[in-house]
Amino acid sequence: MTNVLRTTIGLLLLLGVNVSFADAQARAVRFGRLWDGTKVITDAVVTIDGDRIVAIGSGPGAVPAGAVVIDLRKYTGLPGLIDLHTHITYYWDRQPGTRPRGQRRLPAVTVFLAQENARRTLETGVTTVRDLNAGNDMDLAMRELIATGAMAGPRIFASGPGLSARQGQPPDPGAMQKLVEDRVKAGVDWIKIFGSRGGFDNVDGTQTVTFDEMKAVVDAAHALGKKVAIHSYGAPGVRDAVRAGADSVEHGADVDDETLAEMARRGTVWVPTVDHNRYYIDAQAEYGFAAGSDIALRNYIERNFESVRRAVKAGVRLGMGSDAVYTMFGQNTRELEWFIKAGMTPAQALGTATTTAAALLGVDDRLGRIAPGYLADLVAVEGDPLADIRAMFTGVRWVMKDGKVVVDRK
Ligand SMILES: [Zn+2]
Repeated sequence: MTNVLRTTIGLLLLLGVNVSFADAQARAVRFGRLWDGTKVITDAVVTIDGDRIVAIGSGPGAVPAGAVVIDLRKYTGLPGLIDLHTHITYYWDRQPGTRPRGQRRLPAVTVFLAQENARRTLETGVTTVRDLNAGNDMDLAMRELIATGAMAGPRIFASGPGLSARQGQPPDPGAMQKLVEDRVKAGVDWIKIFGSRGGFDNVDGTQTVTFDEMKAVVDAAHALGKKVAIHSYGAPGVRDAVRAGADSVEHGADVDDETLAEMARRGTVWVPTVDHNRYYIDAQAEYGFAAGSDIALRNYIERNFESVRRAVKAGVRLGMGSDAVYTMFGQNTRELEWFIKAGMTPAQALGTATTTAAALLGVDDRLGRIAPGYLADLVAVEGDPLADIRAMFTGVRWVMKDGKVVVDRK
C-alpha cells in the first residue's frame, strides 16, 4: 500500500466513510420491477457491495462489469419491511394438550426455540422488527444473537419488559421514571408502556396508567435518547398517550377526531394492529378462548378499523404492526390489507412498513428504501403487490438482509 493510499484510507476512516479492504465481487440483483420505497423502476438493477447498496439502475447496461448477477426478473422487488409491533419471544411448541400461553421453560430455552418465530418473520419479507414486551430481556438476547449472525432473524429493536401501573398502588410518576432509567441501563432500544388493559381475548380498554405517569415516562425516556410506545385499547388512554408525547401509540378504538388531528399535528405514529384481533378469532380454538369471545373481538375490530378510516382521512402517520405472538408469525404483513380497505393505496400501505417505520425507528438513513448507501435489505415477490397487496401474503420468494440471502424459495 502506498503512503498516499494509506493516508487517503485513514482520512476516509476519520470521516466515518466505510472502507472495504476485501476484494469482494460486487453483486447485481435484477428485478422485473422494483418499488424503491417511493417509485417504481422497471428492469431494475441493484448493485450491492458487502452489506450495502451502492447503485440503482435500469437495463442490462446498469450491471457493472464482472458483477455476480442474481436474476430475479420474474419478481417485483421491494425494500425489506419493518414490523413495528411483535412479541418474538412468545413461543409455543404445539405439543398436544398444551395452549400457546402458559408453557413454562427456562428463558434461554425460549430464546433458542423462538428462532422459529424469527425465521417465519423473515419469510414474510420483514427484515426488521420492533419488539414490545419480552420477559427476562429475552428480546435483547435475540437482538444480540441476530446482530452477531449466531441466529437467523430480523434485526430487532427491543423494549424488554413493558412498564405497567403498579397494582393496588396510587399513581407514582417518580417511580415510573425510575423504571425507565433501569430499562435504559439494561440496554433497551425502546420503552413500552401498557397504558390500559386489553390483550388476547380481553378487549377491555380501561386506562391503567395516568397522564402524569405517561408524561414522566416520556420525558425521562426522551432525556435519555429513547423513544416511547404506549399501548392503549381504549380512547382515553390514546388521547393521554398522544398528549404526553408518545412517539407511537399501539392499538386503540373509538379514537376521537381531536386526538387524530393532534396525532397528525405532532407526527405521532399510530400502530393500530387491526389484524391481530382477526388472528385471535381465527386461532380461538388453539388458545381455548371462552365461547363468544369472538363476538367481543369482532366488535373491537369494527371500532378499531373505523378509527383507522378516519385516521387515513386526517393524515395521521400509520405504522404497520402485526402484534404477532405464537402462531401468528408468518402473518406479519396482513395488516397492510386493512390499511388499503381504510383508503390507502398499496404504495401508501407499504410506506407504513418502510419509510414511516424507518423514520419512527430513527434509521431512515439506512432502512426503508432501496437507495445508494442503504443497507441491502431486499425482498422479491411473485406478482405485483402494488396492484394487489395480497401478493405479499403468499408471494415472497427471496429475501436479502444486510447483503445476505436469508430466504430462497425461487
Ligand atoms: Zn403487543
